[in-house]
Amino acid sequence: MAVVRVALDTRSYDIVIEQGALTRAGTYLAGYARKGRLVVVTDAHVAKAQLPRLEASLRAANVAVEPVILPPGEQTKSWRHLEELLDALLALEIERGDHVVALGGGVIGDLVGFAASILKRGCHFIQVPTTLLAQVDSSVGGKTAINARAGKNLIGSFYQPALVLIDPSTLDTLPVRETRAGYAEVVKYGLIDDPDFFAWCEEEGHKLLAGDAGAREYAIERSVAAKAKIVGEDERETSGRRALLNLGHTFGHALEADTGFSDTLLHGEGVAAGMALAFRYSARLGLCTGEDADRVTAHLKAMGLPHDLASAHVTADGATLVAHMLHDKKMAAGTLPFLLARGIGRTFLSKDVVLDDVAAFLDEDR
Ligand code: NAD
Ligand code: ZN
Repeated sequence: MAVVRVALDTRSYDIVIEQGALTRAGTYLAGYARKGRLVVVTDAHVAKAQLPRLEASLRAANVAVEPVILPPGEQTKSWRHLEELLDALLALEIERGDHVVALGGGVIGDLVGFAASILKRGCHFIQVPTTLLAQVDSSVGGKTAINARAGKNLIGSFYQPALVLIDPSTLDTLPVRETRAGYAEVVKYGLIDDPDFFAWCEEEGHKLLAGDAGAREYAIERSVAAKAKIVGEDERETSGRRALLNLGHTFGHALEADTGFSDTLLHGEGVAAGMALAFRYSARLGLCTGEDADRVTAHLKAMGLPHDLASAHVTADGATLVAHMLHDKKMAAGTLPFLLARGIGRTFLSKDVVLDDVAAFLDEDR
């Protein structure tokens, strides 16, 4: 068991990581139940795979569970489902002092967090993330959102949970492709500023994917601690520190856009290829060594993750991909703020990346 504290100016909260925590959820969550009841919002997949365990442990602690079950998938982060959720919470007479539990991946966490931030001007919520991506990334840091016609995550709020309860054993029922995609965000923390953790990933990462409980818990704790630290320094992404968390995401976003944000390329898969591209581009600029870039590429490849355009199923040319990067980004005279690296664990924000050069690199890097 590990506890990581997120220390913010506004409020602080704990992230508890414990193998089997869902089976003991009564111990952790009963104190948050008003009138002996908790509303648990989840999606249909998670309702089947994990809700029974949570319900049983809460029932054993004399807490009644009111489930709200939404459809699975990214489309659920929409006005329509936000409205449906808010109406359901109001019908259940949720008050400002209540805690709503979000049980699921990043979709449920982002949606429930946003709903909680506006319901009666704000009620409490608890994150119980059930995908690796949600456990190491989206459940920590307080960004909540739904998608708009104009793009993803454009409507939302900064709203921190009261508690994050992580049970790595929930990954037992997650499709391995989803776990692998989430693993890209784990590797990201090593590449940002923790070379020892990247070396751990190279040695032990395969155990995490194979379901080893110790490896899962260690990687989740280290990732969450890394994110908590960065968020603590820059809660609202004003100083640029928090932007480091977007390593691989500018390239990744372009690859996701080119594949239509579809199942062809999951977000974490796009990030994996994006990080490999960011390192190879950094090597091309002479910022880091070719050996460092090769290490990054080799590890992602060994873990079965996309690591170049071909393995990401992207055929578009460099100019088209750069055009995707510019969508919803500010451009200053043909340049774009870009995360590059001086080495493994030495990521920095470059403000003067020349887009034509990025396009040329993408055309050569095939
Ligand atoms: P997801 O929530 O869609 O979950 C992926 C799939 O796995 C879904 O089909 C879900 O039903 C299923 N699932 C979840 N847990 C399961 C389990 N334990 N067993 C079986 N099936 C399970 O996707 P995700 O990758 O967790 O999250 C993606 C979302 O997170 C995106 O909308 C993204 O914008 C958001 N996100 C937010 C932040 C943030 O800071 N708030 C950060 C990164 C990503
Ligand atoms: Zn990401």
